[in-house]
Amino acid sequence: MSSSPPPPSNPARPIVCKFGGTSLAGAEQMRRVRDIVAADPARRVVVPSAPGKRTPDDRKITDLLYLCHDAAEQGLSFNEAFGVIADRFRGLVSDLGLNLDLDPLLDAARRGIADAAHAGRGPDYAASRGEALNGRVLAALLGCRCLDAADVIRFDAAGRLDADVTHDALTSALKRVDRAVIPGFYGSDPDGHIRTFSRGGSDVTGAVVARAVNASVYENWTDVSGLLTTDPRIVDNPAVIDSLTYRELRELSYSGATVLHAEAVFPVRAAGIPVNIRNTNAPDHPGTRIVATENAAPTAYPITGIAGRKDFTVISLEKDLMNEAVGYVERVLAVFSRAGVSVEHVPSGIDTLSVVVADAELAGKRDVLLEELRRTIAPDHLEIDPDLALIATVGRNMKTQPGMAATLFGALAKAGVNIRMIDQGSGELNIIVGVNAGDYETAVRAIYTAFIG
Ligand code: ASP
Repeated sequence: MSSSPPPPSNPARPIVCKFGGTSLAGAEQMRRVRDIVAADPARRVVVPSAPGKRTPDDRKITDLLYLCHDAAEQGLSFNEAFGVIADRFRGLVSDLGLNLDLDPLLDAARRGIADAAHAGRGPDYAASRGEALNGRVLAALLGCRCLDAADVIRFDAAGRLDADVTHDALTSALKRVDRAVIPGFYGSDPDGHIRTFSRGGSDVTGAVVARAVNASVYENWTDVSGLLTTDPRIVDNPAVIDSLTYRELRELSYSGATVLHAEAVFPVRAAGIPVNIRNTNAPDHPGTRIVATENAAPTAYPITGIAGRKDFTVISLEKDLMNEAVGYVERVLAVFSRAGVSVEHVPSGIDTLSVVVADAELAGKRDVLLEELRRTIAPDHLEIDPDLALIATVGRNMKTQPGMAATLFGALAKAGVNIRMIDQGSGELNIIVGVNAGDYETAVRAIYTAFIG
């Protein structure tokens, strides 16, 4: 794989860059961010997270803010946790040598946390202050304006992003400034109260902003050089995925790989804006590009990546002449739906139907579900097999290349792994195999060796 930086961007269209918490954890990291932003004049809109951990046993500012809210809600003092937060921000400002007085903002945050808790408004205001304060610090460092996300990122009364109002607010605010910082993670609702996305939600802010300014690329800067082809806890030093499609990302993230907040893909995907995952600590590395299928270059390896999850159970039903009974599958699935159990896969045979569900889905519902299946379906045989792991081998190339399944199954056979289930979606974007949970790591390593090296 090449390690040359990506081609210079189109200056007419801005780049939106979002920096995660570890990229902004301390003064040294912040200076790296300043240099990255300065290296390309098209990097005109910057979306920061709150400061993250500087060392593995450090605390994230956002976690401390949630603690402040919890204490305030119980009528307890939150001075200690807030003191840690205030010291951290003051330290950052002085280490960076900035002429910025954060005290009025810190005081306002402290009062706001108490007021929101007192009014029973939940933790959103408290949680948002890490980004709000960090945005001011970063804007001072970059020498540009910090827009308040409460003015430009808008939620509806139910706490969902109001995409249209947000789009209009962002476009008109950004028309008036050439370069800006917009803090991630929060916005405001129609009553003017602060709302946040779910954890990790600065990714979503970045995506929404990228769409509003029609960015040439949405750069998401983190502490790894892109999405890895598989879990580094299983395979040593796995290769980085150079490019993948939005759909492949969805398949891989669904099966366990994490890199972006799930909701961050939709705004940029709808606008055809590529996402580039980059490493603040290795800014010359091109990272991973996430693009629309039609713009995807050939992959470096025959597959794009391997992801998986343990903790599934298979419920198998057998009934004579099942294949001739009209509506049988629907009746079986209706039992799962009435029990509120979401289903992952439904592989079937002539007279058998297996339903794969995540163990977490079955918790507390298992007995009622099985009872209902026996009563309404009256199967000849009903079997429950726990301890299934699912492994998704994902790749847009699989569609056109014969022999992929043979390589996959051959690798598993050679590694002595018994395959309990096979499922290939009709898009031929992935092959999912179910194996015993105890074979999970061996299977992932065997597939990695067969396709990637
Ligand atoms: N600071 C928030 C969190 O820790 C949001 C983010 O970092 O994206 O979840």
